[in-house]
Amino acid sequence: MTTTSTAEAVTREAAPVAFDNSYARLPQPFFARVDPTPVAAPALLAFNRPLAEELGLDADRLEADGAAVFSGSRLLPGAEPLAMAYAGHQFGQFVPLLGDGRAILLGEVVDRKGRRRDIQLKGPGKTPYSRRGDGRAALGPVLREYIVSEAMHALGIPATRALAAVTTGEPVYRDRVLPGAVVTRVAASHIRVGTFQFFAARGDTDNLRILADYVIGRHFPEIGQAENRYLALLDAVAARQAALIARWLGVGFIHGVMNTDNMAVSGETIDFGPCAFMDGYDPRTVFSSIDAGGRYAYGNQPAIGQWNIARLAETLLPLIHETPGEAVDRANDAVDRFMERFQAEWKRVIAAKLGLDRIGTEEEQDLVRALLTLMYEQKADFTLAFRRLGDAAAGEQDDGAFARLFADPTAVSPWLARWRTRLAQDARGPAGVASAMRAVNPAFIPRNHRVEEALAAAVEEGDLSLFHALSRVLARPYDDRPDFARYAEPPRPGEEVLQTFCGT
Ligand code: AMP
Ligand code: MG
Repeated sequence: MTTTSTAEAVTREAAPVAFDNSYARLPQPFFARVDPTPVAAPALLAFNRPLAEELGLDADRLEADGAAVFSGSRLLPGAEPLAMAYAGHQFGQFVPLLGDGRAILLGEVVDRKGRRRDIQLKGPGKTPYSRRGDGRAALGPVLREYIVSEAMHALGIPATRALAAVTTGEPVYRDRVLPGAVVTRVAASHIRVGTFQFFAARGDTDNLRILADYVIGRHFPEIGQAENRYLALLDAVAARQAALIARWLGVGFIHGVMNTDNMAVSGETIDFGPCAFMDGYDPRTVFSSIDAGGRYAYGNQPAIGQWNIARLAETLLPLIHETPGEAVDRANDAVDRFMERFQAEWKRVIAAKLGLDRIGTEEEQDLVRALLTLMYEQKADFTLAFRRLGDAAAGEQDDGAFARLFADPTAVSPWLARWRTRLAQDARGPAGVASAMRAVNPAFIPRNHRVEEALAAAVEEGDLSLFHALSRVLARPYDDRPDFARYAEPPRPGEEVLQTFCGT
């Protein structure tokens, strides 16, 4: 008799996600273990296959039965769900306990490039930190986070990623009844300035040191055994934030809620709540409905970044030096360096946007100031102005499209002439400069009226076609795509959406 034994026929199936959870191995006060709350009728709306592959996940299986997994209704083997503890300054007011009230970390994976990444559900039900909240998210904010975080990544700006979006089949109650949803977020980590504040506020220096060492190991291994590793950590976080905020300004991004609990120490953009992109150039632009004072306006972001770094510095004082006065002096120097770093990064960003290899001389600095002043006074669209300026770099015959973005097109001629004089020194030549400018000045950003249009279609009519179209065009923001012209254009009068709301 020839039978194959069952033992031979059985093949052990690999888990679709190979978790390796380092945060869950930290001491108890860092988090609370909590499972997601299963939902009524999960349905998968979006699945980011390229990201799943980058993470080394089993994309086929997750695409086939991801709804249960990405809603938190089914836990994958190896997941160790937890809510992270953190504190934070919200609009300048310190709150000693915030924590993940509507987010649960499933665990971590090491991706194909060897980078450790968190996989977190946002909107999966209550946690010990939910306070009076329901731990849930509504469909609109979930799709906003999906669209904008992926757009930021495609623009080349460090950001958390969106792996999946699901609806739950359950209502959530805000100012009205909305469809419930969950976004699966992938991050270098979810450790925030507020995580440090959590331990500092409790005078828990032992756990603060454990956190700092963990962050150095995970995000800044190059610090190694530096002479003062905690000062080096502060400097390194400040450097990444300075670079990040300069990149935000370069694309007209306004985060909207730069509270210390929404600033990741990894240097990734995190928490896409009321964030939006500016159309016409105005440094005072604010979209968030809860930011009446303009604390987090476009042009305030560098100063707020520094303010947040000062809050991080305060938490690290006991680790930086045993003599308080000495610790304060060293930390202050690091906080001061933030603004120097930001200025240097911003010069690099804006030089590239103008097609210049550097901004150094007084004339070069004045070229920048003069252009921004013209854009402000003449209400030019920020994104299109730089994109069209790139076309103009190829030759004067292409000046018209740039000039027409200004209320008085003739007003820009003297500036263009000065700019050309400077460009003539560039060894790359007109075609080389034009193509370099196209690679840094996007044609497409998530314009707020298009984002809102896509969210409204999804929420009101269950129609995801605009969401998918927008996602497709934003995946290649530096390519000219005449077939997607409606996504490149600023809002016409009456189309503007000037207010955004928090993601809760
Ligand atoms: P954020 O808007 O992300 O800055 O959130 C601030 C704090 O409020 C965080 O601790 C969140 O976890 C918490 N939070 C926001 N929305 C909810 C909600 N619907 N349920 C529970 N906690 C929430
Ligand atoms: Mg937050």
